[in-house]
Amino acid sequence: MDASHSNCKRKRQKGNALIMNVPFFMHDLGAEELSSVGEVLKGPILTTGETVFEFERRFAQYLGKKHALALNSCTGAMHLSLLALDIGPGDEVITTPMTFVATTLAILEAGAKPIFVDVEPETGNIDVSQIQKSITKKTKAILPVHLYGLLCDMKPLNNICQKNNLRLIEDAAHCVEGKRDGIRPGDLSDTACFSFYATKNLSCGEGGALVTNDSELYKKLKLLRLHGMTKTAADRHKEGYKPWDVEVFGWKYNMDNIHAALLLPQLSKIERNLSKRRELYQLYRQALQDVPNLRWPVEPQGAEHARHLLAVWLENDLREAVLQDFIKAGIGAMVNYTPVHLLTYFKNTFGFKKGDFPVAEKLGSEVLSLPFYPTMPEAHIYTVAQVLKKRLGK
Ligand SMILES: *Cc1c(COP(=O)(O)O)cnc(C)c1O
Repeated sequence: MDASHSNCKRKRQKGNALIMNVPFFMHDLGAEELSSVGEVLKGPILTTGETVFEFERRFAQYLGKKHALALNSCTGAMHLSLLALDIGPGDEVITTPMTFVATTLAILEAGAKPIFVDVEPETGNIDVSQIQKSITKKTKAILPVHLYGLLCDMKPLNNICQKNNLRLIEDAAHCVEGKRDGIRPGDLSDTACFSFYATKNLSCGEGGALVTNDSELYKKLKLLRLHGMTKTAADRHKEGYKPWDVEVFGWKYNMDNIHAALLLPQLSKIERNLSKRRELYQLYRQALQDVPNLRWPVEPQGAEHARHLLAVWLENDLREAVLQDFIKAGIGAMVNYTPVHLLTYFKNTFGFKKGDFPVAEKLGSEVLSLPFYPTMPEAHIYTVAQVLKKRLGK
């Protein structure tokens, strides 16, 4: 080890004031994923090839869809979905401010204008009853987010889209496993988009996918995923070099075999990990039963939550104090999210201000995501509960 490296290591340890007793998230990728990646390394194709295609087949099968397309992010999946549906400059897309910034950025990347509609105070999902009045002649699509893993009420959303001739694209980054009244992501929309970012329920570091039942749309999306090229490396491997062409303007959003190899073994564990998170959620509910100043997102009848994030709402301006308590106790936590319209770029560019979307703002000031992942030790839940109760009362 050279001197600069060891130096760097020492500095990092010294500068690391946070000793994390209770981490927010830990991945549990290990021997199976390593061996799966090892198989790819033994073969000739590191980029998009058979391993990606196998992941796509199995992912589509899991979600009961005709097609899945593996990409390098959910942001890219949403961007491509908008492009493939011919949504761009001059068009408006209705979405929620209570989300990760990527949802809004994808709309901007496509050249369209995001139109926010406030959220339901009980769930944090887009308030479907308020959408109709935001629809104009320019509206082309709705891009809802299944916040924390609760599927939006897709039937009324789909009805609004049918009635107004709008496209429907789902940001299902939190919701691979979720259902509502038997509806799953992609059942009632043009595409559903997923993220395999480092802390998502399925993870390969960075990655994404979309699913669709529309075969024409799928063909378009497949071209857009890789520069618009009519032949790929996998084709060359199979049939030798053939001249290729570019018929449409495309992007560089393809997933490679290495990332797909990390994901494949996780598909077999998806239901088991969901059960584990369900158990941990129940333990949290018990440990935090009747704690004052703490509100749980409501889970409507008929909803099967994907249990991605465990978010609670801390009332009476207590969130900041709790965050500080967590930092002192070495407990990881996150704020999901500060509403997008209050981020500086969006305030400066679009003139958004405080008060524009009051429900999202209230939830954004109250929300705290607690440590939550399938292999989380039970004891950590009691540590978190103890610190919460000390601040919140009881
Ligand atoms: C993580 C996330 C995204 C972005 O996913 P990437 O794969 O990082 O592009 C989009 N929307 C939501 C709600 C997310 O949580």
